Amino acid sequence: MEREDLLLIPGPTMIPPEVRAALAAPPIGHRSPQFADMIAEITKGLKKVFQTEGDAFVLTSSGTGGMEASLVNTLSPGDKVLVATTGVFGDRWVQMSEAFGLEVEKVRFEPGQAADPEKVESILKKSPGTKAVLLTQNETSTGITNPIQALAEVARRHGAAVIVDATSGLAAIDLKTDAWGLDVVVGGSQKAFMLPPGLAFLSVSERAWEMHRSAKLPRFYWDFSKMKASLEKGQTPFTPNVCLFSGLRASLRRILEEGLENVFRRHAKVAALARKRVKALGLELFADEAHASNTVTALKAPAGVDVSEMNRFIQDRYGILLAGGQGDLKGKIFRIAHLGCISERDIFAVSEALENYLAGNRG
Ligand SMILES: *Cc1c(COP(=O)(O)O)cnc(C)c1O
Repeated sequence: MEREDLLLIPGPTMIPPEVRAALAAPPIGHRSPQFADMIAEITKGLKKVFQTEGDAFVLTSSGTGGMEASLVNTLSPGDKVLVATTGVFGDRWVQMSEAFGLEVEKVRFEPGQAADPEKVESILKKSPGTKAVLLTQNETSTGITNPIQALAEVARRHGAAVIVDATSGLAAIDLKTDAWGLDVVVGGSQKAFMLPPGLAFLSVSERAWEMHRSAKLPRFYWDFSKMKASLEKGQTPFTPNVCLFSGLRASLRRILEEGLENVFRRHAKVAALARKRVKALGLELFADEAHASNTVTALKAPAGVDVSEMNRFIQDRYGILLAGGQGDLKGKIFRIAHLGCISERDIFAVSEALENYLAGNRG
């Protein structure tokens, strides 16, 4: 018998009914007037979500492709970048920058802590000529949200562009692309956009366009100029995943109908309930609570509990999928994600499941 689990993992997330219906529509031609109408509506909606008057593009790729596009379009080999890393996804910026031959400076913060703008500033002072600061809005691996506005301010004060991986926070946690001076912001479909994996989103500022004109990293598939030229014709440079575009239009309608501010408030409320319920069970937050994420709650593995065994039991018995730890945190933490259309009802369900498991009701 097929069963549908409740996905409380940080992607893929649950898909609401009207988005599923849109995803099931027959594919349309990507050079058709229908597609042109669809991409026009999507672009307008995405700009609202990014809170930008700049450009917004949709890529057929997972979020990491969007991260790669942000680098190859703005930087040249040997350019100096600073990565403020707070976990697995900050480390991905480091690995990617190294792979592309950038000169990478990194500042690592303790897992569970947010990046400290003062520390970042002290490094920038010693590193004149840093071209870009690479940030993670919401560090999915540890459950913290970084102070992007303050970090961006520091970067700009030192003449560096600001590139933000906002994959697990965009459309869930406030991020003001223009007001905070963010040059490229990256999002992904399978997080708060309530879609299957397969699309990445990018915002591009005026300054990022200036950098683009002289950027020398090799690029072909991910090229802002090609994307812009195609978008003016209501198209994408290469064949896009038209079914996901149709789903994206539905998800953007849902998000904008609810209102961005309401979406942020709802995520904050659900996250606060999650933290309250798990603490009441005696579980300990892994993240510094002052920076605890509104999309993913990371918890220390309770003494004597094998979290991978626990997660397997909770999935088998209750049909609720939780996430373990990534990288060095494997076995040490587990994570409850609450982004997209997760509601308080789902938090009650998972806290009841955890309570039963921790009370030893494992038969
Ligand atoms: C999910 C995620 C990504 C993208 O991962 P993909 O597997 O490429 O979609 C990037 N950054 C963060 C913070 C994420 O949570």
